[in-house]
Amino acid sequence: MAVTPQTNTTLPEIAEALLKHDQFVICGHVSPDGDCLGSALGLAWALRQCGKQVTCVLARDEQPPADLMFLPGAAQLVPACRYEGPCECFVAVDVPTPERLGDGAALQERAAFTVTIDHHAVPEAMSELSYTDPDSASTTLMIWELAKYLGAARGKLIATCCYTGLMTDTGRFQNQNADVSAFAAAAEMVAAGASPSDIARAFYQNRTLASIELEERAVAHMALSADGEAVLSWLSLADFEACGAVKADAEQLIDLLRSIKGVRVACLLREQAGEVRGSLRAKDDTDVAAIAREFGGGGHRAAAGLTIHEPLRAAVEAVAARLGIEDVKLPEARS
Ligand code: 5GP
Ligand code: MN
Repeated sequence: MAVTPQTNTTLPEIAEALLKHDQFVICGHVSPDGDCLGSALGLAWALRQCGKQVTCVLARDEQPPADLMFLPGAAQLVPACRYEGPCECFVAVDVPTPERLGDGAALQERAAFTVTIDHHAVPEAMSELSYTDPDSASTTLMIWELAKYLGAARGKLIATCCYTGLMTDTGRFQNQNADVSAFAAAAEMVAAGASPSDIARAFYQNRTLASIELEERAVAHMALSADGEAVLSWLSLADFEACGAVKADAEQLIDLLRSIKGVRVACLLREQAGEVRGSLRAKDDTDVAAIAREFGGGGHRAAAGLTIHEPLRAAVEAVAARLGIEDVKLPEARS
């Protein structure tokens, strides 16, 4: 593994430390995805097998994406801001900074002991024990290892959670991070009871009609750079309203943009209350995390995100300029 500045321990040491505690709160990042929820719920099942008391909390007080509610334990997720129980040991998974922990940061502050397990490289550790492996395709890969060191029997529940994170963070084993370790671990998870077809069907073959309608609008707003290597599209709040869509309905549309022939960098901007969220993806070795950081965001080389605190129109103009897209279709200015 690549040593990162925030790593100060190993997975066996984390297992040993966790086993000394009895009660746990686990939290992932805001806008939870398959890896973040799979990591939290997978670790929760492993700790429960060791006789521990565990609550998984959500970084923000909002419904998790409907296409992840099949994950075992998803129905018991509690918004961090409403959790008033004990917090002896706080484990952050798939999230490197207090900002990305959202309301979870307050729980982290009152915990007696803190741990981070993640694959996002940042300059500083936020927990007493931090293990970060940017070469790991998903955080659930590390949770799968950790479950072994905890001595948990890795059965269908843990395997389903961990396989889900691996499947989603590798883009169905198609992204640059789908390496031999990812496939080897996937084989172990399938042997332990994870069903690739059931999980893929639950996540990918379960689209709402609203998301299909939203896709039509994302295609209509699409603009390419003159050389065809960059593509940008956007969805306004009005688009979401008109389609009866929720945030999660736009989650997979970035993959459509990236799939275009000749495109190297794809970006989708979504207007949300008071801010604009952006997803960036690279099809080659372009470092989109570096582009995201220019806008105050971050992530991985091939998949990154950002938040712009400006009106949608200004955000579209700024990102289009950065990506060299001149022929951009602008949303209407809001009065
Ligand atoms: P997505 O486009 O799916 O929201 O995010 C892609 C990747 O970038 C994920 O690994 C996510 O954790 C990371 N990411 C998204 N938004 C941000 C952000 O604002 N800051 C940082 N540091 N990472 C982000
Ligand atoms: Mn992840």
